[in-house]
Amino acid sequence: MKKLSEFISPENVLIELTGSDSESAIKELAGTFENVNRDVIVERVLHRESMDSTAIGHGIAFPHARIETGKGLTIAVGKSSKGIDFNAFDKKPVNLVFLVVWQPSTPILFTQLFSSLIKNFRKQDFRNRILSAKNKVEMIELLATIKIKVIEEAEAEIVCTASILRKLQDLERKRMGLKRKSPKLEKELETLRSDVNGDYLSRFDRLMKRYGTAIVDVADGVCQGCYMNLSTGLKNQIKYRNHVYICENCSRFIALKED
Ligand SMILES: [Zn+2]
Repeated sequence: MKKLSEFISPENVLIELTGSDSESAIKELAGTFENVNRDVIVERVLHRESMDSTAIGHGIAFPHARIETGKGLTIAVGKSSKGIDFNAFDKKPVNLVFLVVWQPSTPILFTQLFSSLIKNFRKQDFRNRILSAKNKVEMIELLATIKIKVIEEAEAEIVCTASILRKLQDLERKRMGLKRKSPKLEKELETLRSDVNGDYLSRFDRLMKRYGTAIVDVADGVCQGCYMNLSTGLKNQIKYRNHVYICENCSRFIALKED
């Protein structure tokens, strides 16, 4: 187990963000990073954000980029008491922004961080405590209570966001329909692909090749790719909107239907 606070230094905590939109919040947070190319970080993060909001609900956003920084995982966190529009799926303004820069060599750590954030911030009482933290010390103390489970790649739960895989699937289909390569499309694909851990990406590619679809909905406990009933055990696991599971029958990625 690692503590979230191990990845956040006091200088990377902003107790009140001054901007009111996502772009200025991202720039402000990136400005707290030392010895890195902040412009590259901001550009990558904004490009990623433009494709799919990283707001994960409950007033939290998680803008991120995969960049070689030599540091593993680097996080800056900022609060906004008035709230920032992050184009969240629940339409709620964001009060807490975690800017995360991670290395290609640490995909599992990144996935686990994402899952720990969701788990903790789902609790209203925890959200309130963080939002009422008055200074950096209080904030860091609270963040220290968030534990990140560091597990082996093979055991990792699939918490890759369903919306990313769906977008990736749309883009791959678009690419297949093109006669000529589109540089814009290639760049979008590259950005999205860098968000997906290697194991899932190779599964995704295999599925696309085999079926032409890699991720499908689950409706009433039935996989909409092969139309087989899922086992009761799997049905019970499928409850998180943005999580991805695997159909036991056709091995496609399956996820709850988007609203
Ligand atoms: Zn299936």
